Amino acid sequence: MPRKARLPSPKNALPSGRANNFFWNTLSIYIMTTVIKQDDLIQSIADAIQFISYYHPADYIQHLARAYEREQSAAAKDAIAQILTNSRMCAEGRRPICQDTGIVNVFLKVGMDVRFELSCTLQEACDEGVRRGYLDPDNKLRASVLADPIFDRKNTKDNTPCILHVELVPGNTVDVQVASKGGGSENKSKFAMLNPSDSIVDWVLKTVPLMGAGWCPPGMLGIGVGGTAEKAMLMAKQSLMEDIDMYELLARGPQNKLEELRIELYEKVNALGIGAQGLGGLTTVLDIKINTYPTHAASKPIAMIPNCAATRHVHFVLDGSGVANLTPPSLSDWPDVHWAPDYNASKQVNLDTLTKEEVASWKPGQTLLLNGKMLTGRDAAHKRIQDMLAKGEPLPVDFTNRVIYYVGPVDPVREEVVGPAGPTTATRMDKFTDMMLEKTGLIAMIGKAERGPVAIESIKNHRSAYLMAVGGSAYLVSKAIRGAKVVGFEDLGMEAIYEFDVKDMPVTVAVDSSGTSVHTTGPREWQAKIGIIPVPA
Ligand code: SF4
Repeated sequence: MPRKARLPSPKNALPSGRANNFFWNTLSIYIMTTVIKQDDLIQSIADAIQFISYYHPADYIQHLARAYEREQSAAAKDAIAQILTNSRMCAEGRRPICQDTGIVNVFLKVGMDVRFELSCTLQEACDEGVRRGYLDPDNKLRASVLADPIFDRKNTKDNTPCILHVELVPGNTVDVQVASKGGGSENKSKFAMLNPSDSIVDWVLKTVPLMGAGWCPPGMLGIGVGGTAEKAMLMAKQSLMEDIDMYELLARGPQNKLEELRIELYEKVNALGIGAQGLGGLTTVLDIKINTYPTHAASKPIAMIPNCAATRHVHFVLDGSGVANLTPPSLSDWPDVHWAPDYNASKQVNLDTLTKEEVASWKPGQTLLLNGKMLTGRDAAHKRIQDMLAKGEPLPVDFTNRVIYYVGPVDPVREEVVGPAGPTTATRMDKFTDMMLEKTGLIAMIGKAERGPVAIESIKNHRSAYLMAVGGSAYLVSKAIRGAKVVGFEDLGMEAIYEFDVKDMPVTVAVDSSGTSVHTTGPREWQAKIGIIPVPA
C-alpha cells in the first residue's frame, strides 16, 4: 500500500504547459511511490530467518509424507520417519530443523515505484536482519559463515553476510524470498557447459550419483539451463524457492515440454534407487524444478543445485504497511508419524565398555541404539589433531576405544544440554580417517552420507566401523544427548571437541569392519528392484 506522501504547496506549483505536465507527472509518481522503512525490512528478514529455522514449508511436509507412505525400503522409511518426527518437534518447540542453520540467501524483486528509507546500503540492511535473526536469544542459531574463505577462515559469529540478489521489476512492492541453505547440500552443486546436442537427462543421471548422500535426500533438485555460466547457477538456485508441486503435476499431467522433462527427470532420478540418506529406496527427489533462459548458439550451460531435508525458505511481500506477517503452517499438515527407538529391531550398545571386537561384529545395515559417552569433532578439530600429532604434541583428550561423532551443534537455550546436533558429512573427514584410526586409538565414527574409498580401506584395515545418523533430524538426535561438555579446542566454538553422554541415539552401520558400505549396496539393490535403469555389471 503506498505510504501517504506530503504534497507540495500550491504556491510552489509550476505555472503552465510542459512545466505543468512535468509537475503533474512528478506529483503522480510521488503519490504512487511506496516507502519501505529500514526497520520493516530488517525485522521482516529477522522474522523470516527465525520462521524458516523451525518451520518446514507445508509443500515439503506433504510431499515427504507421501514418500513415507509409498517407501518400501525399511532403512529409508525409518530415515524419513526420523525427518518427519524431527520436523514436527521443531515446529512445536521452535528450535532449528538442522544444526546447520545455513547461509542466508535473500532475493529481492524491487518494484520501480518503491523508495527505500535507509541510512545504510541494502546489503547492510539485509545483513542486520540476518544478525538479528541468528542472535535471537530465544532460538539462537548456529553461526556458520566465515569472513575469509581462503586464509583465516574466521567465523563472523552472526552468520553475516548474506548472499543478496536484487532485481528491478515493475510495481510498487518488494517481493522477498529468504532461504537458509545448508552447506552439505550447497557443496553438491554442479555445473557443466554441455554441447548443444548433449542430453540434459543423460547429464543429470550421470551427475546425481556423483553427489552421494551428503545433500541429505529426499529433497529437490533445482536446474538452470541456458544464459551464461553464472546465469545458469542463479536460475538453479532461484528454482529452489518454488513450491514443491510434483504430485499435483503428476495428477493433472504435463502441459508443455518443460513439464514433460520435469516428470521424466523425477522418475528417472528416483529410479537410480539412491533413496533417503543414500540408503537405497524409492524416493531420492520430491520434485525437480527447471528454469531456462536464452543462450548462445554454441552453448548449453546447465547448473544443478540440490535442496536437502532441511528445505528452508519463505516468501513475503513488503508493501510499505510495516513488518511482513508470516503465517505458520498448521500442525495438521504433518502426518501421524512419530519415530521412537525400536528396542526389538535395534541392538543396544554401551559406549563406555565398547571394544574393538564388538565394533568388528556389527553388520552392514544393522541399526544400533548408542548409550554412554562419545567424543565429537569435525573439520577444524581434525586438522588441529593432525598438526599436533605431526609436532609430537599431546592431544587434549584420549581417543583410546572411543567413538567420534562428526557434529557442530547449535548452542543450547533454556534447559537444553545441547541444541540441535545432527551429523555432518563424513566424507570431509576421509583424509583424516587413517590418521585417527592408526594413531589415536579411535575405534568407530559417526556421521552422515557415504565414505570414500580411502576411508573405507582404512576402516577395513583397522577392523573399525562407520555409523550413520540421519541428516536433517538434528533436534530429534539432540533429545538423545543427556550431557554435553567441551573437552578440547574450546576456541573452535561449534567445532570444539565435546563429550556427549547419550541415551538410545539411533544410528545405522554404514560401513562395517569388512569394508562393506550400505551406500553402495543399498542404491544398487533398489535400482535393480525398481528396474527402470539397468544396474551395471
Ligand atoms: S539436512 Fe543435511 S545438507 Fe541440509 S542443512 Fe542439514 S546437514 Fe546440511
